Amino acid sequence: MQTVLFHSTIFGPIHSRRLGTSLGVNLSPVDGKICSFDCVYCEAGFNAQGQGKSGLPSRSTVREELEHKLSDMKAHGGSLDVITFSGNGEPTLHPDFEGIIDDTISLRNRYFPDVKISVLSNSTRLDREGVCRGLRKVDNNILKLDSAVTATMRSMDCPNSPSFTSEGVIEQIAQFKEQCVVQTMMLRGEHNGVKIDNTTPQEVDALIAAYKRINPREVMLYSIDRKTPEERLEKVSREELEQIADRIRANGIKVDVA
Ligand code: SF4
Repeated sequence: MQTVLFHSTIFGPIHSRRLGTSLGVNLSPVDGKICSFDCVYCEAGFNAQGQGKSGLPSRSTVREELEHKLSDMKAHGGSLDVITFSGNGEPTLHPDFEGIIDDTISLRNRYFPDVKISVLSNSTRLDREGVCRGLRKVDNNILKLDSAVTATMRSMDCPNSPSFTSEGVIEQIAQFKEQCVVQTMMLRGEHNGVKIDNTTPQEVDALIAAYKRINPREVMLYSIDRKTPEERLEKVSREELEQIADRIRANGIKVDVA
């Protein structure tokens, strides 16, 4: 079975097609996955692999390991565009998320003041004040919205919460307006006998209405790039992504295709 991608808390730098040269911060276990979603396309595999034994890294461990890496890169003339919170699960599930963001800003300012800080979040913890404060402090607050239709989002992202709705998460994302980037995975396929397709005209119309409600700084569209735990998924071509992006742009929304 495909399992966790990252076996350390600080990883990289790696080249990200969306963000440039990126140093990763994984606030999830290094030997398991913890997420409030179980996306069919998750590069870290399904949640069924388990949470591992290492637990979440402490705030002090993250700070020490990040400082060690940044000071080493600085001493050796390394280049960096962004520090990115992603990894083997959802970073905002960490109980010290806001404090870790504060530490990261302080280390960034000391070692690489021009570098951006990005958080890739699945938007499920926007009901917490500390999480929202932390997200407002970073340069790129990138929030997932894969469909404005609850049934489609459920079939793509398999939320743990039985009460999850797209409508609810859209309202929570809308509090950020231009302080967020909305990220949408476009795909077709099948999972557990249910067909998935968020590229239909109806789906795109519903997404456009959601983007207009949120009014984000930018929308990022992308499709599958690596191996996925559900194998019956189809990558949406760059050409088709651009066509969908043009429909969205016609509504005055800035769109980046990754
Ligand atoms: S939200 Fe991210 S980490 Fe969680 S299952 Fe989906 S892709 Fe994986």
